[in-house]
Amino acid sequence: MVRRSGLLAATGMVVAILLGCEPTDTNASPDVGPEFDGAEYGLVIHGGAGTITREDMTDEREARYHASLEEALRAGYEILEQGGSAMDAVIAAVVVMEDEPLYNAGRGSVFTSEGTNELDAAVMDGRDLDAGAVTGVTRIKNPIKLARLVMEESPHVLFAGDGAETFASQFDLEVVDPDWFYTEERWEALQRAQEREEVTLSWHEEEDRMIGTVGAVARDQNGNLAAATSTGGMTNKRFGRVGDVPIIGAGTYASNASCAISTTGHGEYFIRNVVAREICARMEHRGESLQEAADAVILEQLLDHGGSGGAVGIDRDGMITMTLNTPGMYRGHYLAGAEPFTAIYGDEGDGR
Ligand code: ASP
Repeated sequence: MVRRSGLLAATGMVVAILLGCEPTDTNASPDVGPEFDGAEYGLVIHGGAGTITREDMTDEREARYHASLEEALRAGYEILEQGGSAMDAVIAAVVVMEDEPLYNAGRGSVFTSEGTNELDAAVMDGRDLDAGAVTGVTRIKNPIKLARLVMEESPHVLFAGDGAETFASQFDLEVVDPDWFYTEERWEALQRAQEREEVTLSWHEEEDRMIGTVGAVARDQNGNLAAATSTGGMTNKRFGRVGDVPIIGAGTYASNASCAISTTGHGEYFIRNVVAREICARMEHRGESLQEAADAVILEQLLDHGGSGGAVGIDRDGMITMTLNTPGMYRGHYLAGAEPFTAIYGDEGDGR
């Protein structure tokens, strides 16, 4: 059953409050009902975590988020329902979100301090711990597809920048002009970030620099797990900065022995805390449930270090988590035998 650990959750909140962070004061984890004991197959997705509040949202924008999350869920679920692989499902879901300019991934990615878009993505296959990632790509329409090619068609795990694009040129991948990634909204966010920086000299304080990373985790009918994450990184990032997303174990991890995790948040903290692997490792070594492990890492450990963000996960038994320590996280799940569910704010239920 998915049960939030009351003690851990309460401790996490206390830590958050003591740190003066902005944790959600709500049930950040899904309560998928007392009868739920794991889905035979299904997927869980996120579209970024951060200071997402009702005050800053319009009805129209909210509806667009729900619709696009649902579209991504349906794309992945259809594959799972037909007996397809968890890997195919997470790629399909992430591609939908990379193509939707609302998200900070693919089209709609945030800008670097030089006014460019440098995209990161990673995939991991829980069957054999195979993984692939790219960082700093500027012309690949769907970086998540390139990450998969790195995994399947090379002996390596991570390709960077020009090398990644040279590798991509061997395959039939859609290449776009860098302008493809431009959106007015993200450009204005860069201008605001750079103005603030002149005043504060602090480049990493504003959470809106990063909202919109996308990710998906899935369990297929064979019980295999997979994870995929894609991002433009953080607004105003500098000099070849690499975030957590393409670092296997930090932003993305999958092992059939425990769980599949995709994260979103302030990447530097996720790297230092090796968040995705840490959640799986707690399950493997301490025998914790997915929810206990996610609470301990996201609501306690990460907040202890001042890191904000969230994670989605699915485990070997089909149990799920959507845990966040921020006011909101675009998120959803579509599990066998249930309807798709999408949510934005921390205080929303799970739809059951
Ligand atoms: N984790 C991403 C990064 O630091 C940003 C995000 O999740 O919003 O690159």
